[in-house]
Amino acid sequence: MNPIDVIPLPAFDDNYIWLLRIEGTPDCVVVDPGDEDPVLAYLEAQDLQLTAMLITHKHGDHTGGVKALKQHWPRAVVYGPAHEPVSALDRKLEDGAEVSLLQGKMNLRVLNVPGHTEGHIAYHSDGLLFCGDTLFAGGCGRVFSGTFEQLSDSLRRIAELPADTLIYCAHEYTLANLGFARWVEPENAALLQRIREDQEKRARGLPTVPSTLALELATNPFLRTDVPDVVRAAEKWAGRSLSGHREVFKALRQWKDRDYD
Ligand code: ZN
Ligand code: FE
Repeated sequence: MNPIDVIPLPAFDDNYIWLLRIEGTPDCVVVDPGDEDPVLAYLEAQDLQLTAMLITHKHGDHTGGVKALKQHWPRAVVYGPAHEPVSALDRKLEDGAEVSLLQGKMNLRVLNVPGHTEGHIAYHSDGLLFCGDTLFAGGCGRVFSGTFEQLSDSLRRIAELPADTLIYCAHEYTLANLGFARWVEPENAALLQRIREDQEKRARGLPTVPSTLALELATNPFLRTDVPDVVRAAEKWAGRSLSGHREVFKALRQWKDRDYD
């Protein structure tokens, strides 16, 4: 049993701010606090104190609450990416850096996962991945200030983690993503089953996140760029033959950007 509780704090329309705590202690950590209000409300209701903030990338829906939270909790340490502009960072993290939190009970390792943005990072510990807007349940982030090649390589890197890793992404985009996944692989039985299960969760008001890496590998087309059916669908859309993860990835991402979203 992981002693760490990971709690979703919904923010804006579809963001999740992840709050990490250990039952019975007052310390907690938040990941990507785009808005201070849901965090402050939870901390007050539960009588907790904020000791750290983890930032994955520079976008405002992931950083907008940092300043106000720091005013309330001046001793909270703000961690974030070394290679993109995020204001108010106390520690700039390079690939492979280790972050020790919650009195040493949670140790995270930093993975550089550029592509959505140029310096996006993820935080990995035994069984958990906080990946911001890189990998989503059923999909992946758009390419904004990084490149398609970077995002393709970053997803390959995540695909190498243990299959039981829980994927804590930063948005509830799952059902929309799975609709596109179904365009790509209309006959993927694991995908069709996932759509039913996640529709049921949303109908009951539950998050579909976290998922597991194993489920993503079975159903998320952006992690399946070497599966023959996925390659064929991407080639059909592109109107030419494609080879390698990067080419297939780029065609899928452009297909979704142009025709689906
Ligand atoms: Zn973003
Ligand atoms: Fe975002």
